[in-house]
Amino acid sequence: MCIICVELEKNRLTLLEARRNYGEMVDSIDESHREELEKKLYPDTIYDEEYYEYFNFIKGTSGSD
Ligand SMILES: [Zn+2]
Repeated sequence: MCIICVELEKNRLTLLEARRNYGEMVDSIDESHREELEKKLYPDTIYDEEYYEYFNFIKGTSGSD
């Protein structure tokens, strides 16, 4: 786990923000962790960034009634 994972799990970052952070922090992230992180940032099932933002939005608004 790194700061990006932590923030993602707390839903404090959107995927796009996380990708940007990753780009800035990549040199300080352990090489063995990069692959894992890239799987989170670029999931196979979701290709469209706008869709993913929408997905995050839905996720953020559902769950409470
Ligand atoms: Zn991490």
